[in-house]
Amino acid sequence: MNYLKDKVVLITGAAMGLGFATAVEAAAVGAKLALVDYNAEGLKKAKAQISEQSPAAEILTIVADTSSEEQVQNYVEQTINKFGAIDGFYNNAGIEGKQAPLADYDAEVFKKVIDINLLGVYYGIKHVLPHMQNKNYGRIVNVASVGGIRGVMNQTPYVASKHAVAGITKNTALEYAKFGIVTNAIAPGAILTPMVAGAFKQVNPSDPAAAEKEYAQANPTKRLGKPEEVAKVVCFLLSDACSYVNGQVIAIDGGQSNSY
Ligand code: NAD
Repeated sequence: MNYLKDKVVLITGAAMGLGFATAVEAAAVGAKLALVDYNAEGLKKAKAQISEQSPAAEILTIVADTSSEEQVQNYVEQTINKFGAIDGFYNNAGIEGKQAPLADYDAEVFKKVIDINLLGVYYGIKHVLPHMQNKNYGRIVNVASVGGIRGVMNQTPYVASKHAVAGITKNTALEYAKFGIVTNAIAPGAILTPMVAGAFKQVNPSDPAAAEKEYAQANPTKRLGKPEEVAKVVCFLLSDACSYVNGQVIAIDGGQSNSY
């Protein structure tokens, strides 16, 4: 079913992981894509892979760092110049930072996590909104985390930034729904992407597979999530069908965040 047919979907952090998986899914259901990442090589590969699977998909790639407001303005402008509109915005780029208890956390890394995960998300919404308002239509999906609804040991700036993303989501939803703009966030648990593989290496450098196995055991499903399982939810949230779900932070975590 081509339920995103002719929709222009802008995705940040699209070179790999959750952004890439959503780009693959969105192209498969008819979307035109603007893909943003600061990894130029990864972006090129992502475009080639998507074109192979969805040869008809129109794809624009833009190399940009989402923590720079100037570069955000530029990726929005380039998307409008090419496609004339932005219907869906998957505001996904983010980093985990290092793992350390709060008092030992390096202040520079702390600031970097906030710059990308919080300010980058804010700049994106800020510059996309006027184009959605022009059309009286828009779907915004921000990426929080279970770290945006719960604490996560040794990841204070990540957790702070993701709680802030949940807050921005609620406020954008309140302020802009009257313009036909629906805003939600997803809160993924551990989904097996390069970011999460990196986290298992930090937790257990000599045996990351053991850390992964232990983590999976704590999940009701006894496994980690797959990027495609997140992509399907995101594509629903980017579609016309998502018309009255607004301001929600939707956990995609196998149910783990309900456990005490
Ligand atoms: P990933 O590291 O696998 O991929 C992230 C992509 O974003 C990479 O291509 C990277 O180059 C890009 N990127 C990072 N910072 C950028 C910046 N400043 N400008 C442009 N591009 C940038 O990560 P992922 O697991 O796919 O995570 C994607 C989002 O999902 C992040 O916001 C992350 O916090 C969130 N998340 C992931 C998980 C998970 O389990 N994978 C869980 C919860 C939340």
